[in-house]
Amino acid sequence: MSEPSYIDTHAHVQMAEFDEDRKDVLRRCWDSGVRWIVCPGVDIATSDLAGQLAQQEPNVLAAIGVHPEDCADAPSDYLAKLSALFARYGEKTVAIGEIGLDFKEGTPDHMVQMRFFEEQLQLAADFGLPVIVHSRFAVVESLSAMSHFAGLRGVMHCFGGTPADVEQAAGMGFCVSFTGNLTYPGARATREALKACPLDHLLLETDSPYMPPVPMRGTRNEPSFIVHTYHAVASLLDRDVLDLSKRIEQTARELFNHHKRREHAGEKNIQDHAQP
Ligand SMILES: [Zn+2]
Repeated sequence: MSEPSYIDTHAHVQMAEFDEDRKDVLRRCWDSGVRWIVCPGVDIATSDLAGQLAQQEPNVLAAIGVHPEDCADAPSDYLAKLSALFARYGEKTVAIGEIGLDFKEGTPDHMVQMRFFEEQLQLAADFGLPVIVHSRFAVVESLSAMSHFAGLRGVMHCFGGTPADVEQAAGMGFCVSFTGNLTYPGARATREALKACPLDHLLLETDSPYMPPVPMRGTRNEPSFIVHTYHAVASLLDRDVLDLSKRIEQTARELFNHHKRREHAGEKNIQDHAQP
């Protein structure tokens, strides 16, 4: 009987929270059956670190981008810096992210966030890469901005919208990724959104080091904990974990592997790079 394999489509394992034991964290992750993970940056420094880690670790893939909460501190030439990172780590860079909008109180000015979001959506379009989108309290606004980029591919990460938002995102061709917070007792709305997600648009993630799933709540999250989220989702959707894991792996591979860049670069795909 084959064992399920897991994909963590969003884990910030390059961050300082893992500086003490990153090797152990990654070993536990592969030992748990995780096949590969996507490691997104939130600013120039963490995007650079994501690229470095991806170069060292065959099953870590990088995403580069400036997060909406970090955009006010970004250097004025941040687009040139992201382009330079893409030039350096292009072979292992599979997305622009995480980028987006965050309209929680206290976040940077909405107009500034929107400028950074649109500029990085354009960067993704230029590079032929998908986007990893953060959209806290701004799902509708994020999808509206994304709708202006024909052919754009991407994932709405750590999804916190309604079932109608899920249907809209999936209808626009985007994937929707859920994190461990759907296991929390108070997350009924997120579980309803999950059930509205077409299976071929569904991804899962840990968002490590944040939001550990039950029963790991209260600890630092790490990619191996994705196993709990897969089991919770399989039970919520009344599906077999093995079947679910195969579907998600296929969706994740199509999203992060299917970009135009490969056509002219003639690069190897995730299967070659990130599969044991
Ligand atoms: Zn994140």
